[in-house]
Amino acid sequence: MNPLPTMLYPQHFDVIVVGGGHAGTEAALAAARMGCKTLLLSHNIETLGQMSCNPSIGGIGKGHLVKEVDALGGAMALATDEGGIQFRILNSSKGPAVRATRAQADRILYKAAIRRRLENQPNLWLFQQAVDDLMVEGDRVVGAVTQVGIRFRASTVVLTAGTFLDGKIHVGLNNYAAGRAGDPPAVSLSARLKELKLPQGRLKTGTPPRIDGRSIDFSQCTEQPGDGMPGGMSPVMPVFSFMGRPEMHPQQMPCWITHTNAHTHEIIRSGFDRSPMFTGKIEGVGPRYCPSVEDKINRFADKDSHQIFLEPEGLTTHEYYPNGISTSLPFDIQYALVRSMPGLENAHILRPGYAIEYDYFDPTQLKSSFETKVINGLFFAGQINGTTGYEEAAAQGLFAGINAALQVRAMGGGNVQACAAGRASYVGDSWLPARDQAYLGVMVDDLITQGVTEPYRMFTSRAEFRLQLREDNADARLTEVGRQLGLVDDVRWTAFNQKRDAVSRETERLRSLWVNPKNLEIAESERVLGKAIEHEYSLAELLRRPNVSYDALMSLDGGKYASAELPVGVSRETGVLSPEAAQAAAVIEQVEIAAKYSGYIDRQKDDVLRAAHYENLKLPQDLDYMQVSALSIEARQKLNRHRPETLGQASRISGITPASISLLTIHLKKTK
Ligand code: FAD
Repeated sequence: MNPLPTMLYPQHFDVIVVGGGHAGTEAALAAARMGCKTLLLSHNIETLGQMSCNPSIGGIGKGHLVKEVDALGGAMALATDEGGIQFRILNSSKGPAVRATRAQADRILYKAAIRRRLENQPNLWLFQQAVDDLMVEGDRVVGAVTQVGIRFRASTVVLTAGTFLDGKIHVGLNNYAAGRAGDPPAVSLSARLKELKLPQGRLKTGTPPRIDGRSIDFSQCTEQPGDGMPGGMSPVMPVFSFMGRPEMHPQQMPCWITHTNAHTHEIIRSGFDRSPMFTGKIEGVGPRYCPSVEDKINRFADKDSHQIFLEPEGLTTHEYYPNGISTSLPFDIQYALVRSMPGLENAHILRPGYAIEYDYFDPTQLKSSFETKVINGLFFAGQINGTTGYEEAAAQGLFAGINAALQVRAMGGGNVQACAAGRASYVGDSWLPARDQAYLGVMVDDLITQGVTEPYRMFTSRAEFRLQLREDNADARLTEVGRQLGLVDDVRWTAFNQKRDAVSRETERLRSLWVNPKNLEIAESERVLGKAIEHEYSLAELLRRPNVSYDALMSLDGGKYASAELPVGVSRETGVLSPEAAQAAAVIEQVEIAAKYSGYIDRQKDDVLRAAHYENLKLPQDLDYMQVSALSIEARQKLNRHRPETLGQASRISGITPASISLLTIHLKKTK
């Protein structure tokens, strides 16, 4: 591939990460935190942590992943706290399982926050070069070769090339090769991966034209302030990280809302005959839940208006991101459609919208550690696995970085500490959180068992145990294992333990305090509990009642039961809480949710325990499913192709029925 290799770099690395996007930066940071000598190789140091599309982090399902990355010591949540110019808690009136944090980020501040972490991370080296080739000896990757022929040797390689592999940008019927607007594609690397016979396909995604804010008439739009801002839905300023503080946030800014109309839709339809999507120029499948505006108008022809959010891209730019009009229509159509909307009549477009097609690799050909099945030591993470979104990429990057580091440890390299990982399952020397432990576990399991037919994004509905997998308890689920893996520093670990201890002290206190009806006036009982109590109850029992809040309970009988440790009412009183009040609010939240949902959560835990044996039952890796004659031909072929590691994984492969699973179980028992 590379005829003129010029230099073998003198140092050997434990882990090379190719690509400095959201997956690559978390992968490199994680491997380095775990003690591996890590090299991050990326096209351009200036674009480390760059947001290719909308400047926002989080949302439903995605926010859950960000909190998990944070609980494992990752960078995304803290970088968002440092770069976020608007924060909101979505679904705040709904149950805690679906509440989610979303932040609008200043893309320059966000990138700077990521880069600062990379540059200050011990064990991590950065190098700017395109990687054109992988060094493979036998069935093992041993390094990467850059565009100018520098050969870097390593024990493992994590590939996070995003939308860059054979990337092709489309605007109308024009197209050109690129990784994203302004960046080169990775053509040689894509060809090399195909040569290695890694099964590949094409996907696409798109982005809207960007608008100069000075040309927007905001008086025609509806203002949308964030939480903690005047007029916001909540007076409390959210933070993303468990270690975050509102004081980390820069100045906050509102978003604005406008909408499409019948005229906009007419303009869009008039461009269908020059749309690369409708004329077959684009072969790749796009994200169903993030459709282009032409797709929306085509599919929902009866809708006469769509909301468009005008989101600021930062504090030092006038650029706005019009969320909802992602498009690859020709530029003349983009120009007219933008100007057809209220407030945008005189809009100046700074950058045209476009679609990009790129290679992805079939994630069913990955082990549950994200190592490729055919090339040992080679891991894939992020958009390359058929996903979409910064958060999905970051979580996968962290995961692949951990598993690359664990493999280095198993090979006797690096300085990776031995660890035991709680409820998570180990397959060889890798770590995989269970589906009831993390959205990360759900995503990895979905990808490796079911593959993708369109870009995969996270939703809370993908998690069958979502009551347990909440944003608010991501630290309780993962920080301890993160500490064991070597990912969590002392400061985070101390803060986590203080919170955990405070939650258990308060839970015990509520269990030990009893309210006797004889000592309680009926009016007081009715005020706080809705009705008079007929016998003695512990405070813990009373808190389980849906209409009884912690704060109300603490006000009972003149505040007689209030905790000296936890100030009451803090969670609703002020915009920026003091650090002590914020911690108290977080403790109270955990105590309250655990009490209110304990019945459901206990039932889910029982289900998990019942399924555990079946879920984790290992399948022999040399089993030739074609010889299991009781199975249908389709099931045999699918199992041979996917080669699941556990019976639980086998049960989630599409087309593998419960009947196939019982036949397989019988076969395993017989051949034991
Ligand atoms: P990327 O962020 O793409 O980063 C890849 C990195 O690898 C880059 O730094 C690149 O320079 C580097 N790289 C690649 N190849 C090489 C090589 N050979 N050598 C050295 N370095 C290399 N997501 C959504 O959730 N919603 C959307 O609406 C949406 N729209 C999008 C629209 C567009 C036009 C694009 C480009 C992306 C969009 N995304 C969207 C996807 C989002 O940007 C990605 O999911 C996310 O950035 C993936 O992260 P990643 O780390 O896998 O890859």
